[in-house]
Amino acid sequence: MDCLFCKIIGGEVPSNKIYEDDMIFAFRDIAPEAKCHVLVVPKKHIGSIDELKSEDGEIVAHIFSKIPEIARLGGCTDGYRVISNCGHDAGQSVKHLHFHVLGGEKLPLHINGSME
Ligand code: 5GP
Ligand code: ZN
Repeated sequence: MDCLFCKIIGGEVPSNKIYEDDMIFAFRDIAPEAKCHVLVVPKKHIGSIDELKSEDGEIVAHIFSKIPEIARLGGCTDGYRVISNCGHDAGQSVKHLHFHVLGGEKLPLHINGSME
C-alpha cells in the first residue's frame, strides 16, 4: 500500500521516533507547528477517524493511554493539545489515522495541526 505513515512505521521512510510498541508509533512532525509537535499513529492502517470500526476501540484507548508519556518524551512539559484532522474540510493530508500532540510552549488558539 502506498501510505507514507505505513512506510515510516516500517522504517522505509526515516523519522525522528519518540516512542514505539506493538500497537502504536510516535514520531516528530517534519513541519512542526509548535516546539513539541509529535504524531501518534496506530501500526494498523486505518484511514481516519471516519474509518474506525468498533473492534479498533482497543487501539484508540491505547493511543490515548500513552499520549501523556509520549507528550512528555516529546518535550510537552506544561500541557498539550491533541488534534486529529479527518477528511477534506479538516485538511487531512495523510490518509493514515494520526493524532497531533502539540505543546512545549503556550499555543495560539488557531493552531490546528494542519498545514495551510
Ligand atoms: P494532517 O494534515 O494529515 O492532519 O497531518 C499530516 C502531518 O504529517 C503534517 O503535519 C505534516 O507536516 C506531516 N508530515 C508529512 N510528511 C511527513 C514526513 O515525511 N515525515 C514526518 N515526520 N511528518 C510528515
Ligand atoms: Zn498507512
